[in-house]
Amino acid sequence: MTDFLPWQQTPARRWLATRERFAHAWLIHGRPGCGQMEFALAGAASLLCESPRDGLACGECQACRWVKAGNHPDLRRIRPDAQAVREGALDVAEDAKKQPSREIRIEQIRSLLPWFNTATHRGGWRVALLYPAEALNTIAANALLKILEEPPEHTVFLLSAQAPDRLLPTLVSRCRRLPLAVPPVAESLAWLEAQGVKDAAARLAAAGDAPLLAREQAQEGRPVMPAWLDLFLDQAGRDGDGAALADALQAGQPADWVDDFQRLWLDLSLGAHGLPPRYHPAQAARIATVAQALDPAALARTADWLRDQRRLAHHPLNPKLLADHAARTLLQSVRPVRADPKGRA
Ligand SMILES: [Zn+2]
Repeated sequence: MTDFLPWQQTPARRWLATRERFAHAWLIHGRPGCGQMEFALAGAASLLCESPRDGLACGECQACRWVKAGNHPDLRRIRPDAQAVREGALDVAEDAKKQPSREIRIEQIRSLLPWFNTATHRGGWRVALLYPAEALNTIAANALLKILEEPPEHTVFLLSAQAPDRLLPTLVSRCRRLPLAVPPVAESLAWLEAQGVKDAAARLAAAGDAPLLAREQAQEGRPVMPAWLDLFLDQAGRDGDGAALADALQAGQPADWVDDFQRLWLDLSLGAHGLPPRYHPAQAARIATVAQALDPAALARTADWLRDQRRLAHHPLNPKLLADHAARTLLQSVRPVRADPKGRA
């Protein structure tokens, strides 16, 4: 896919209209699931296109065909091996025992050096697409920084990122920033429906209005309301031991359920203030019931605990222990305040 997403076309035209005095490095960033990587790729295609239409890639010329086929000589994609495997561009079979790298390694940056000295096709741009920029390890980031300090001619670096604050500040300072907004809900809904996503409105809300995330979750067959959230809302405020919830959590990936509970926690905080849920509008009544009975301090403590788990979620030491502990922590924090319920305004 080398076209801009529908909501990206207007900002893309504005951006590409300045291509004559283009910065040599751009940091394209936005919330996860809003299409910054797609924007960068479509941007590369538009810069390389031989007969752009209204600034955007025509999709038909030789350059556009090369980009689509993934073999344009003036386009390089620098991403972790794990990402290349997901794209089907790299075989895992080589050494099945070894996990593909989640990092962008220095060799990948170094391998660009000879490329900078080759002539470009018809004297056009050379585009290095690097995503996600957070995957650059420190050594690779420094190597890239060195290149950007004396940028090669006719070369544009497009870095895509979700969290620029996690990048090397000196690297960020070498890039022009191009922030992408969360697309308007109506446009995202139209796009999701065109993509055949069922229950698009609930999906989009559950994904925090990030349309690509909503589509990904639909394609993975994830329920809009994950089973653990459903169980949790059923058991909240009751005297159970949380065993069923612990089982459900253990059957899933910590990275998934921590994320889901963080979203539900925001909905509960909103509910405690009498506001409608942001992520699960269809569950407004259940969320409000739980939210009205709970202790805000306990809710805040568990929010902190969830944030800590977020960092550890990829490497749980003992999944069963974590699931048991999580179920207890989550349910305890929504036990109604019994004696002397504090009057909350
Ligand atoms: Zn073209």
